[in-house]
Amino acid sequence: MRDVSEPNRPCRDKPGFLQPGEYPFWHLAPETVAAQEMCGHCPFRRTCAGETLDNGYDGVVAASVICRGDDRTRDMLEQIAGRTTPIAPVIPIAAARTTHCLNPTCRARLVKQSETPAAGEARRGGRGLCMGCYAVARRAGRIEARRLRPLTCKGCSLPMVAAHRTPPAGHVEHEANDYCTGCARARRYAEEIAA
Ligand code: SF4
Ligand SMILES: [Zn+2]
Ligand SMILES: [Zn+2]
Repeated sequence: MRDVSEPNRPCRDKPGFLQPGEYPFWHLAPETVAAQEMCGHCPFRRTCAGETLDNGYDGVVAASVICRGDDRTRDMLEQIAGRTTPIAPVIPIAAARTTHCLNPTCRARLVKQSETPAAGEARRGGRGLCMGCYAVARRAGRIEARRLRPLTCKGCSLPMVAAHRTPPAGHVEHEANDYCTGCARARRYAEEIAA
């Protein structure tokens, strides 16, 4: 957990930073959202993420993250703390329709898929890459999936960012089936209770 003995922390003595009991929907409570918002402006955010990683990341809001003690919480905190090793850049969906393959080591001139490529040419694949480079990039997980994800969570209606992105304050992260991580968890919890 964060170090609140440090007197300058804006969250010191403020509500909303601790999970109230086992209440499963605490991530939707206004105090929780306000707490995340406060973290968003906090100059200690990066340090705080590191402290939280080191001291336990469950049942607290720290560095805008609703900490649930799981791998995803750890990933988000590691990102904020700057402890992750950079991953190869994902090739965005809206890569320009280029004349040549975007792979700097390829740069083949792109031709239609129906055409037979001459020397120095290759068939157009996707994302501005030739077919060969596209296949390699896709196998390497560098092609961002085309996801039909709504802009707000189906459950809590909060603005939602793509899965595995750190949501800014007041935002939630998409998990699956149009629900954010928190709502997906709450739904699983509700299903378990009903079962
Ligand atoms: S980032 Fe949030 S929890 Fe951490 S010190 Fe700042 S306000 Fe407190
Ligand atoms: Zn290529
Ligand atoms: Zn939600």
